[in-house]
Amino acid sequence: MVETVGDVIRGRFAPSPSGRMHLGNVFTALLAWLSVRAKGGTLVLRMEDLDPDRCREEYAQQLAEDLEWLGLSWDEGYGKGGPHGPYRQSERTDFYAAQFERLADRGLVYPCYCTRAQRLAASAPHRSDGKLVYDGRCRALTAEERQELDKHRRPAWRVAVPDEEILFTDRHLGLYQEDLSRDCGDFIIRRSDGVYAYQLAVVADDGDMEINEVVRGQDLLDSTPRQLFLYKKLGYRPPEFYHVPLLVDPDGRRLSKRDGDLDMGALREKFTAGEIVGRLAFLAGLQEKPQSVTPAELAGVFAWEKVPVCDVTVDRTLWQNP
Ligand code: GLU
Repeated sequence: MVETVGDVIRGRFAPSPSGRMHLGNVFTALLAWLSVRAKGGTLVLRMEDLDPDRCREEYAQQLAEDLEWLGLSWDEGYGKGGPHGPYRQSERTDFYAAQFERLADRGLVYPCYCTRAQRLAASAPHRSDGKLVYDGRCRALTAEERQELDKHRRPAWRVAVPDEEILFTDRHLGLYQEDLSRDCGDFIIRRSDGVYAYQLAVVADDGDMEINEVVRGQDLLDSTPRQLFLYKKLGYRPPEFYHVPLLVDPDGRRLSKRDGDLDMGALREKFTAGEIVGRLAFLAGLQEKPQSVTPAELAGVFAWEKVPVCDVTVDRTLWQNP
């Protein structure tokens, strides 16, 4: 079992500024905020703008402004500074390069020359959820083969995972386990275009920023074993994890940026901050009716036991009119 320490809670929001925040992002942000505030902790805002094709500074600024408007303030990070900056991932490339080298020095990374088509062909669907598991074919390449392939293609870089069961207790969902080689396979930590992958960046950043509580969507639950493996290899102490339910529409489809009517732009035209927070608090099981409330008022009644563990269905009529 993984152990964590630290008396003062340090939580974070780590949004990707690739568009306007939607209801699902706000739901997660609210729970992350409440969990930290209820314990008198510190909240850090870090912009996960690793992907230059998708992320923009205007979105980051808008995101920060939407969080302020909602009353979800942070203490350190984007726009505020602090001892662990910079707080934009796009400005932390040298730091990721150093972490990458630390893994490389331990013989844990290897170049992968597979094209997307080859990667798909080299991957077997995982039994339970159909996700692809890379078979590690580039791990066995000889130095000569690598030299030859280098002439034609810039490789991505993977970290070699052991045949090892990773077990951890999610503080909201309970025990979760995964066998990295069977369920996931060697995974990419640097893309062929040189961009460091989310899995490496998030661990290096949370480790460096001394984060000891991570609250995020359940879509990232199955990334956690990979991240715990990287925490161990990089020598950082892992945080406690709380994976929160996803908001879904009545068909069970996850709300996303496609649902433009539920993004902060559309919502702010119709509702006050209190009305949005009140409705989300109702969905989170924190109040019996969707009445208007401030995050600060909710901090007094917040308890993880009240928050559902399964997907939460959003009734759109609740979001049509105040
Ligand atoms: N940047 C990720 C996202 O916006 C969240 C990463 C995390 O919380 O670990 O989905």
